[in-house]
Order: sequence, then C-alpha cells, then structure tokens
Amino acid sequence: MSIRIQPVNALKDNYIWIIINDSNGQAIIIDPGEAAPVINYLTEQSLEPIAIWITHRHYDHVDGVAELQETYPMIHVVAHSEHPVTADQTIKDGSTVNAWGRTAQVWGTEGHTEHHVSYILDVDGRAHCFCGDTLFSGGCGRILSGTAEMLYNSLSRLSELPDDALLYPAHEYTAANLRFGRTIEPENAAIQQALIDATEKTEQHIPTLPVTVAHEQAINVFLRTDEDSVIAGVEAKTQLPDTRPVTVFAALRALKDNF
Ligand SMILES: [Zn+2]
Repeated sequence: MSIRIQPVNALKDNYIWIIINDSNGQAIIIDPGEAAPVINYLTEQSLEPIAIWITHRHYDHVDGVAELQETYPMIHVVAHSEHPVTADQTIKDGSTVNAWGRTAQVWGTEGHTEHHVSYILDVDGRAHCFCGDTLFSGGCGRILSGTAEMLYNSLSRLSELPDDALLYPAHEYTAANLRFGRTIEPENAAIQQALIDATEKTEQHIPTLPVTVAHEQAINVFLRTDEDSVIAGVEAKTQLPDTRPVTVFAALRALKDNF
C-alpha cells in the first residue's frame, strides 16, 4: 500500500491535509474548513474521499463538512461528540480510527480548545501526526477555551513522539512564529536557519510543513521551556513567579499573544 500526504490550501492560511492511498485512489480529509478547494482537488486527482477526520470545533476546520457530506454521501465523518458536525464515529483520547486496515491513534491534545484531538497514523513504521491547532512549526495554538497547563501537557505529549515523526499542523504560521522565537533565544542558530528557510519557502508559496519532532525540539521555544536560554529569554521580558516549565510556557504564550 502506498500512502502519501498532500496539503490543500484553504481560507487565508489553512492547510487541509489529504491522506492519499495510491493503491486504490481513495483519500481521507483532515479538517475541511472549506469544501470547494477539496472538491476541486479530489476531482482533478480522480480521488474518492472515504473519510473526514476533525481535530477541533473551529469554523476553519469544520465549515466544509456538510457540503462534503452532501457531495459524497458515503463519506465517514470522525469527530468528538462536542465538535459541531454530524459524525458517523465519535472519538476521544484513546480511540482508534481505521484507515485502510491500519489503525490511527486518537490523542486528546486540548488547550487551544477543549476536546481538541490529534490523529497519529503509522505509515511503514513512521508516525504521521495531524495535530490541528495544537502545535505549529515554531509555535503553538492560542489558548482560546482551554488552559495553559492543558496546552503545555498536550505539547509535551506530542514532543514524546519519535524524533522522526512528522507533524502536520493546520496553518502556515512558521515564519511569524520563528520571528517571535528569535526574540526569546537570539543565540539559537537552528532558529535563525529555520527562519531563513521558512521565509524563502513562504515567499514562493511552498509549505514549510510537515516538520519532524526532532526539528521542533530544536526550533520551537514552546517545546524548550526547560532550557536555560529560554527561561532567560522570558525573564528578560517579563517577571516569572517560578521557573517550572509550565510557568515558563504560560508566560511565553502570553508574550506571543502580544507580539
Ligand atoms: Zn482553531
């Protein structure tokens, strides 16, 4: 079985990730915030969509679902019971989802919102993680209906995936995140290089995603809250009550909100 994963651009800066099985021409769609670009892509590529997997409730992840269900009546929608879609299968942390006889694991990764989940699909021994708005390259989601502690725990869990696991966030925020990260860790050469790469790609409309877990551990300050350099960078901008990683994380998130 030959599986590949492609992004479809939607809305302002969303990526709708499409898991394609080249052996049978079928596809699984992650977080369709819009239907039209997905339908165009599937038609162009002669793909048959079999499922939709939803990570969280925001409109830019679910608004295309109803139209896709009308267009493809056999499509199987997977979502949490609190997501605003009509689901065929409800999932939560610990659930599994079938993909052509393979099993994707569902992890609760709340914090950006409550009931946010990520899907982890093993393809030939490598994990592919669809993490919605939990982690972005160089950054993380805003805390909109969760807590800093929830999001910190979710990011910690994602960063425990194998080093070569691929992360597929739902937005192209990489360059902006790295410009913030650079102000926290000005001596981090990996951040400098990643910013050069991301700026070049973004100018050419090339996605900077997916990224590996090992890459994020080197360049994402939100995963580096136990590093002295990050603690010092935060303390230079704001007063910390203590230097526990979750405290540093909450302060970083607040600084980024106002960056
Ligand atoms: Zn969101």
